Amino acid sequence: MDAMTQRTAEVGDPLPPGAGGVPSAARGLQAGPAGADPIEVSPIEVSIVGSTGSIGIQALDVVATDPERFRVVALAARRSVEVLATQAKALRPDAVAVADTDMARALAAAVPKGTEVLAGEEGLCEVARRGHVVLNAAVGFAGLPVTLAALESGRRLALANKESLIAGAPVVQRARRTPGAEIVPVDSEHCALHQCLRAGGGGPEVRRLVLTASGGPFRGRHPDDLEDVGVDEALAHPTWRMGPKVTIDSSTLMNKGLEVIEAHELFGVDYDRITVVIHPQSVVHSMVEFTDGATVAQLSLPDMRMPIGYALGYPRRLAHAFGALDWSVLGRLDFELPDRAVFRCLELAEAAGRAGGLVPAWLNAGNEVAVAAFLEHRITWGAIAPVVAETVERFDSPAPSSAGDVVEADRRARLRAEEAVRRLGRAA
Ligand code: MG
Repeated sequence: MDAMTQRTAEVGDPLPPGAGGVPSAARGLQAGPAGADPIEVSPIEVSIVGSTGSIGIQALDVVATDPERFRVVALAARRSVEVLATQAKALRPDAVAVADTDMARALAAAVPKGTEVLAGEEGLCEVARRGHVVLNAAVGFAGLPVTLAALESGRRLALANKESLIAGAPVVQRARRTPGAEIVPVDSEHCALHQCLRAGGGGPEVRRLVLTASGGPFRGRHPDDLEDVGVDEALAHPTWRMGPKVTIDSSTLMNKGLEVIEAHELFGVDYDRITVVIHPQSVVHSMVEFTDGATVAQLSLPDMRMPIGYALGYPRRLAHAFGALDWSVLGRLDFELPDRAVFRCLELAEAAGRAGGLVPAWLNAGNEVAVAAFLEHRITWGAIAPVVAETVERFDSPAPSSAGDVVEADRRARLRAEEAVRRLGRAA
């Protein structure tokens, strides 16, 4: 066991999930509940759900840097069968899955002989039960079954699908206690926090987590200018190239609000000790402040392949870097507080997180509906926060005892959100 593995096992602090107020920031770092060491196998077998999306494609870039270390054993996509088949021909995984069952036949005809073809939501879950590490890069709440399948089968989950943890926290935290199950975050801020906690120590010495945010394309804009901005403007992120859903969430700061909840759930730090700071250069990916006033930060280029590689290879780092900081041109790093009056989604999310239970599921559902409506030009950008606020105000879901209860809460919340979209929407 190397030094880092040993230290990681020691900071592991087996708190009951949901013990939000307890001063342990090490929860996301623990070795498996059975005391298992972090994975040190070779090759690391990788399954990817969402392999045809932005994160999935970048993950395949990462895997390609070290074919001796990583082997792709299963791939899944929602409906992009052509891209999925191309990936299967190149990588020869044991299995591929497509969520849309109507497309399974076309997929079967296009993949190499001997590749197992799975279909439907259960097909995606089967992919999530294979390999040593499962990357969940599905988009939105639809990723919940995949997160649960990976954890319940005792896999390490490289989590890019934050919505499943945020909306399904009560059941996901339970699944996380499965022997061998572990979450290593792919979200760049949480990957940074993970690294800062490893570097600086965890537990009661953590004073607060500082999440950085680029501020998105509308940082510094007056609310009057923002009411009716176009979809193209909202999709023009200044520093990150990402899929459309998270890019719109970045423009409203809902992404950062969701990430506050994600940080609380991953690391067990209460909401009073999670701070959001705008940092337009997107070089400092987040920070941990300790009780003695020291702050540990993680810096790297804004390239998702770094956090993806960290999660796939943990506890060892990739041997390859996708670019490095150039101190001769970096110049300056700026920080400022977010404008909470303009970007209301941030506080809506923080309030939902504090309320706990399935309130974050309603927030998330309201947001997914609002973002889809904005992308379809049915509501203005300025109506996204009001749709989310109206949805959460009508929350009425009891504490969940199963994943089905979470799905039902999401369904109810979406109905309320669609009503809000109709009321607040553009005249046809
Ligand atoms: Mg992020």
